[in-house]
Amino acid sequence: MQERTHYLDHNASAPLLPGARAALCAGLEMHGNPSSVHGSGRALRALVDKGRGEVADLVGATRAQVVFTGSATEAITQALVGGAKALAVDLIITSAGEHKAVLEAAEASGKPVEIIGLDGEGTLQMEALLARLDGLDAAGQVALVAIHAVNNETGVVQPIEEIERRVGPSPHFLFVDGVQALGKMDIGFAARAVDMMAFSAHKIAGPAGIGALIVKGHCNTVRLIPGGGQEMGRRGGTEAAALIAGFGAAAVEFTKKFDAADTSALAKALEAGISALAPDAVFFGTGSARLAHTVNFAVPGLKNSVAMMALDLEGIEVSSGSACASGKVGRSHVLESMGIAPDLVACGLRVSFGWSSTKEDVAAFLAAFERLLARASQTARQGLPEGT
Ligand code: PLP
Repeated sequence: MQERTHYLDHNASAPLLPGARAALCAGLEMHGNPSSVHGSGRALRALVDKGRGEVADLVGATRAQVVFTGSATEAITQALVGGAKALAVDLIITSAGEHKAVLEAAEASGKPVEIIGLDGEGTLQMEALLARLDGLDAAGQVALVAIHAVNNETGVVQPIEEIERRVGPSPHFLFVDGVQALGKMDIGFAARAVDMMAFSAHKIAGPAGIGALIVKGHCNTVRLIPGGGQEMGRRGGTEAAALIAGFGAAAVEFTKKFDAADTSALAKALEAGISALAPDAVFFGTGSARLAHTVNFAVPGLKNSVAMMALDLEGIEVSSGSACASGKVGRSHVLESMGIAPDLVACGLRVSFGWSSTKEDVAAFLAAFERLLARASQTARQGLPEGT
């Protein structure tokens, strides 16, 4: 029997912080509707306002720029499906490394979608984007550009500021999926040439089921869900006051608990340990600017589906970086778009550290991985061609 689990999948969802849990539970004890004028309603309205202020402060936005949604996926869909309509754009330009939430929403917008590739280190091919925008300017067409700030699978930081410099003074619009950047990078939304950004509470150790779309004033017409006029008419539906309170509390607590230097040190120790155990291990995205708490690697011949199951049996929880909703291990479209050979993509594993990670987690991973490699050398790695 394993003693305890070692959760190394913070990019998928970070365990709830104590302050966020307390705020969530306190909110659940309350009743009413934040839109009601009576005392119970006003108490919930105060909770929503507090949460809005806390989230606004973390993203460097004004309170009026925060639109609460049910998830980042909803916020993204509002930005792309709602944005394509309200902003009357001709097309959406996005990248091959986007989360499926972005790729699917772009397709659902009904507008033509153009995909910019990633280079071999996981960074957006900036020259291709710039050339395409020049072409659109010449043709008098307007694009909604949708790019993620930080890749969830590789931790690669995309050149958003460079995109802002190009898109800012142009007629084009810029939406940034900031989900993996929140709490880990300065966002400073209000001062940036970004029109809309999407975030999710559970990635900063708040509750799942609550996200936000942050919008500049000219995007106030960008809507997905009409209804009772909530969120200044930008998202209908009674506000989830308890979830918003949990999001707000996480926004305050996360930056105190998530230590970039600590998680980076854990990641470095993990990488060194993996390299010592498997000298042929390949690490992805290491040549790009990266948030260091994410390690994405492959040991040639060791299938990620096999590795994840074996590690899970030992209480080590990691990801292939592309878990399907069905719970099956999917192929990483991110690694594929980086030009990684399919055999190696099938071996990609993602380890992501966060506020609750410890040296013991690294040690437990490496001990389990050593046992797995020993077993795999007898079975899974047999008979595979060299260089896969
Ligand atoms: N964008 C990125 C970069 C993500 O990592 C995720 C979640 O993994 C999402 C969007 C979607 O977030 P949610 O599932 O919370 O809606």
